Formats: sequence, C-alpha cells, structure tokens
Amino acid sequence: MTQPIFLVGPRGCGKTTVGLELARACQSQFVDTDHWLQTKAGRTIAEIVEKEGWETFRALETETLKAVSAPSTVIATGGGIILAEHNRGFMREHGIVIYLCAPVATLVERLEAFPEEGQRPTLTGKPISDEVSEVLAERDALYREAAHHVVDASQTPEQVVSHIVTALRLACA
Ligand code: ADP
Ligand code: MG
Repeated sequence: MTQPIFLVGPRGCGKTTVGLELARACQSQFVDTDHWLQTKAGRTIAEIVEKEGWETFRALETETLKAVSAPSTVIATGGGIILAEHNRGFMREHGIVIYLCAPVATLVERLEAFPEEGQRPTLTGKPISDEVSEVLAERDALYREAAHHVVDASQTPEQVVSHIVTALRLACA
C-alpha cells in the first residue's frame, strides 16, 4: 500500500475498529483524525466545540487531515469530514477513499451498546435514532461522492477488512 487509505462514514460505522484491523493486516500506520487532533490540541472535541464553535473545529480537522496524510497509512476520519468540499477533494486526490456504509439500525445498535465511545457532542440534541437517521440522510450522498469504494460495514470487522483488501487488490492478508 503506498497511497493513504481514508475511511469515511458516520459515527459507529467502524472507522476506528476496521481501520486498526486493516492497518495491522497490511502492516501500515494507523491514524484516527479525531484522536490525533485531540492529542495535538490537548483538549477534547467537545471542549473545542463548546469554547470555539464548530467552525474552528472544522478548520482544525482540515489541518489534521493534511498533517496525517502519508503513504502506507490507514486514516480513520471524523464523521463530518466530508462536509467540506475541499476535504472531499483532498482525500480523493491524495489517496483511496472508502465509505463504510451501514444501515441506521446497525449504527444505532452500536452507539447504544457503547455510548462512552461517542466522543463527539450530540449534533442535534435529539434521541440517538433520530439523530443517526437525520445525519445519515444529510450526509450519505457526500460519503458516496467522496468515496472510490463503498463497502458494506454491517458485517464483522474481519469481513469488512477482507472486502477492502479485495476491492483494493492490496497485497496483505
Ligand atoms: P467509528 O470510528 O466509525 O465511530 P467505531 O470503530 O468506534 O466507529 O465503532 C463503534 C462501535 O461499534 C465500537 O464499540 C465497535 O466495537 C463497534 N463496531 C465497529 N465495527 C463493528 C463491526 N463491524 N461489527 C460489530 N461491531 C462493530
Ligand atoms: Mg472513530
């Protein structure tokens, strides 16, 4: 793998989980943009958004995307990274973009099972199922627009990794 692989999709689709597995299988680096940004800023995303607003967070996210893009790297992106046209263009130009696509029910099930892993502030303040379906309705077309490949992310992490390896004809197990 030479070009970076960008995993995009909504919260709970498995970007972090699948990204780690894929990087391990391909002996590549793994970076999570949310995690990298929080470490660099020394604050959580919730704190950044609360103190400085979404616009500042989105600008930091774009800087992060550029900073972490490197060869032989699997990059798990934040769910809203595709909102900015320049982010979509950057990822498509500099790497291979994969949309981890899962139905609303699957996303809700995962987020409800592991609520502590939702490190972002709620986007709408509504119940999780309403929020997931609204956010997905708004963003699905953008995930597809950004992606070179759309992969069914409702299967096990191992199966999702295997589909990605096959789709990209990667030389890894
Ligand atoms: P994202 O980074 O896209 O928000 P995560 O990788 O953090 O998603 O996954 C959210 C939750 O769903 C985690 O608790 C994870 O263990 C679980 N999960 C992720 N992918 C799968 C999968 N393919 N099958 C079952 N559970 C999964
Ligand atoms: Mg994640």
